[in-house]
Amino acid sequence: MANANKDLVKIQSIGRTLKGQDILAVKVTTLARALPDGVKPATLFSATQHAREWISTEVEMRLLKYVLANRTALKDLLDRTELWFVPVANPDGYDFTFTEGNRLWRKNLRDVNGDGKITIGDGVDPNRNFPTNFHCDEEGSSSIPSSDTYRGAGPASEPETVAMDGLLRRIRFKGQVNYHSYGPLLLYPQGWQIATKTADDPIYDMDKMGRKAPHALGVLSHYKAVVWETGDDIIPRSTGQVPGTTSKGGVDTELAVRDYLNEGGKLLHAGKYPSYAANANGQYYFQPDQPAQRECATPTDPPCIQVFNDFQQYWLGAYVFFDDAGTDQATGRPYELKGVGGRFDGFAGTLAPSHTNSYVATSAILPARQFPRFASSAPVKWARPGGPFDPHTGSWDVYTGSSCAPPSGGAGWRTIHPFTQRYQGPACEPTGTSGAWNAASGNSAGWQQWKIDLTPYAGKQVELSISYVSDWGTQGAGVFLDDFAVTLDGATAEQSSFEADLGGWTVAGPPAGSSVSINNWFRTDQVFEEGGGLATKDTVYLGFGVESLTSQAARTDLVKRSMRHLLG
Ligand SMILES: [Zn+2]
Repeated sequence: MANANKDLVKIQSIGRTLKGQDILAVKVTTLARALPDGVKPATLFSATQHAREWISTEVEMRLLKYVLANRTALKDLLDRTELWFVPVANPDGYDFTFTEGNRLWRKNLRDVNGDGKITIGDGVDPNRNFPTNFHCDEEGSSSIPSSDTYRGAGPASEPETVAMDGLLRRIRFKGQVNYHSYGPLLLYPQGWQIATKTADDPIYDMDKMGRKAPHALGVLSHYKAVVWETGDDIIPRSTGQVPGTTSKGGVDTELAVRDYLNEGGKLLHAGKYPSYAANANGQYYFQPDQPAQRECATPTDPPCIQVFNDFQQYWLGAYVFFDDAGTDQATGRPYELKGVGGRFDGFAGTLAPSHTNSYVATSAILPARQFPRFASSAPVKWARPGGPFDPHTGSWDVYTGSSCAPPSGGAGWRTIHPFTQRYQGPACEPTGTSGAWNAASGNSAGWQQWKIDLTPYAGKQVELSISYVSDWGTQGAGVFLDDFAVTLDGATAEQSSFEADLGGWTVAGPPAGSSVSINNWFRTDQVFEEGGGLATKDTVYLGFGVESLTSQAARTDLVKRSMRHLLG
């Protein structure tokens, strides 16, 4: 075949067996002999590592003949890639199975007991002899020479292994199919340990599992750590559900993961919108009695109840949520990611345009000294110019403090101050008694410049007052103010960055008619622990999808760091 297809086929010996026979490899690709080996992406098909598995060589040879017979149809594949064939990886053993009484010999012909004969106590299993994970346990290979899975005296002790390992290292194949015929099995490289799932296995896809959450004990507890990656899912919903609602399955999943953590599990949670409904804290409703009752279809239906962010705050260390706050709103591109602290120190990553979250760590609000159970940090930072909580300039700003509890018996935000009704209606719609508003409400996603034109008041005395109003449920971290300036005809007449004092401002307190408030503006140089990735002792919570990282190296690096953080 090689001689009949000189332009396409190159045959070579990749090493010798124990008995000195060549182990042959066939490279099939356009200009096979002219081009160096391994210059194109290569795939390896190999067979008969196990001497008695004759049919694997037949399958391999049939595939090789098929490729040559269809070289025209396969031109594109042969132009762009290399196909490699090793039809008999264990020629000594293969030959031995053609001798009387030895049809079911499996291993190579190593005379392990040194008696000069090949008998039951001899031979090394060539695919248990590779150096990777050699002798890690007694599950997938054996220390006993008479065993059919005897792994040999040491890593790559057999010349057949050295030959194959050399080819693998030299060509760096993109993929390999190693044909065997022992049984109806698909074996993965992790087969050195029989109970270890492969990278393909332990993915629990709720949609494929009848939209059932993974059981905390039945599924999750089999693993020391689990990865809960939500991909591009935003709000899990069933057919017929409307905006403002979410499926019971989404809530069940969170509870299953929470139970698993309570039992000592470890979690990496990530995605483009990981736990979005819960982070929105009270804005989405679900039906707790589903499946006995149908999924929540109308948020205000009495059986529907709200989804809150307790799990994010107290288990994942994400106390305050900022929607899309890792994205530069001017360019639409996520900021660079930078690891600071612990296992994440030195991590660097770039994200493709994608939705991002940022969080204030729970310990920034509930200090770890007082609340050690909720100890958390934000070791994966968004590399943005001045975080949303770093002063805009200098190291001081003024701040309102964070949310207060509603006064007992209070009737919600409309009681905070009668003026609130000027700006918003009873259902929080942005139209109040004084018209349509809402221009500056909501999450600012970082520092925003705000300008007021005072020219209509030229020649008059103006008192400028900056007030901030919020209900108790959605206040979040509060409001920061920095860098105030008055400009007159283009020149700065007065300015302050609050570095030394209040810069002429006074803290007035809530206006008359206000509900009780424990917050007020104060000068601070406090820096909040905030970032796109949070860590607690048992969890890593990323406000972005690992799949959005632009390089495989960064994806691998971040998952590795996360696992090292979780598993030590
Ligand atoms: Zn086999």
